[in-house]
Amino acid sequence: MPKVQNWQLGREMDYPFEQAAPSRQFAFVININRCLGCQTCTMACKSTWTFSKGQEYMWWTNVESKPYGGYPQWWDVKLLQKLAEADPQNPGWEGEPEPGANSTRPYGTYGGQTIFEAAKISNEPGQVLGHLPTDDEWRHPNIYEDTPPQSGQPAPGQFDQEGAQLPEHKTWFFYLARLCNHCSYPGCLAACPRKAIYKRPEDGIVLIDQEECRGYRKCVEACPYKKSMYRATTRVSEKCIACYPRIEGTDPQAEGVPLETRCMSACIGQIRLQGLVELNADGSWKHDPSNPLYYMVKVAKVALPLYPQFGTQPNGFYIPPRWAPRPYLRQMFGPGVDEAISKYRTPDRELLGVLQLFRRSNKIIFKYKLEKGPKVYEREVNGKQFELYDDTVIAYGKEGQELFRTKVEEPVVVRPEQYANSI
Ligand code: SF4
Ligand code: SF4
Ligand code: SF4
Repeated sequence: MPKVQNWQLGREMDYPFEQAAPSRQFAFVININRCLGCQTCTMACKSTWTFSKGQEYMWWTNVESKPYGGYPQWWDVKLLQKLAEADPQNPGWEGEPEPGANSTRPYGTYGGQTIFEAAKISNEPGQVLGHLPTDDEWRHPNIYEDTPPQSGQPAPGQFDQEGAQLPEHKTWFFYLARLCNHCSYPGCLAACPRKAIYKRPEDGIVLIDQEECRGYRKCVEACPYKKSMYRATTRVSEKCIACYPRIEGTDPQAEGVPLETRCMSACIGQIRLQGLVELNADGSWKHDPSNPLYYMVKVAKVALPLYPQFGTQPNGFYIPPRWAPRPYLRQMFGPGVDEAISKYRTPDRELLGVLQLFRRSNKIIFKYKLEKGPKVYEREVNGKQFELYDDTVIAYGKEGQELFRTKVEEPVVVRPEQYANSI
């Protein structure tokens, strides 16, 4: 099997195809700390792309309550279990993370087997270790919503005042919003015997050619995130298309300007930011700290990939929730969790500015700039000095045009008395 470079694992890994990288890559950051679980994103996608016959159980984007929820049910637990059985000696993450934005080992080196490597040593056929969910597992898109683990819950009638204290809540859950990660090394693409799945060279979006697909469901089995789905009425598989007419700017609403996807721009909680990052030939990200996604993932390291150990190099990144147990989060987002939470709890001036960019516009932000303003607040947070500056953050589009500017300090607007009861 050819070798490809996986920056998230800090090493080369086996993949059925030679190294090839698009010039730009679709990517997104989701801030779990602020997700409401309102499912507006879920319904925005559903009402746009999957409202037809045969798509009743097709949720290209979904929001599940962790640790028990999942769509399809147990998608991650089942794969983690299979990987553990195939690779019982897994040493996990090794070595110290290499500092710096251009680091080739930002989280250290993963010593275990990816889904492509584990497939070679497992007894199962195929290029990718995976599993095909049962019909029942696809049936309950929001099972275990808002369900915390039992341990740590107070006895009936008792109020546990310690239960919701940081740094970790004893009773906890969090909302995990998910969609196709448009992976750099897609499991779905690797497994398709028809070669019906392809990754676009201009933006890294992964699509299924509906003419070529014969509905073998190998992609459904191989996608570790279970984001390729079978449609019984057409007998072919479908998946998130990254709303590509919006990304291209060819959507009638776009007027030639690249727009963020439907699930991103509909987000009520303003927790999603999506864009494109520029890539080098080996798939690493071109150094560009003025791109807000690059800044959060590579410079601040506040946003982390979902289950990087699977090996597909997913392009969805998450700011992990502050209140959840760290071992659970480290399994899900890798060893960068502690640093990411620490940065998020006491953000520096630049990060605070970048966090203001979320959902101020539906247009894709290609670059941003910070204009310095006065200090308006300071205090100690978790033993660290925190200072708030009323900086102005300016967002720029694809052609360098200014999209908007926003301030860190939200302005206070006092409604004139004669409009006090107006709506
Ligand atoms: S998340 Fe799944 S469906 Fe999407 S590109 Fe990765 S492997 Fe393919
Ligand atoms: S990017 Fe578009 S197609 Fe994909 S999940 Fe979001 S709304 Fe659906
Ligand atoms: S719309 Fe935003 S806040 Fe609401 S569930 Fe989706 S990601 Fe969370």
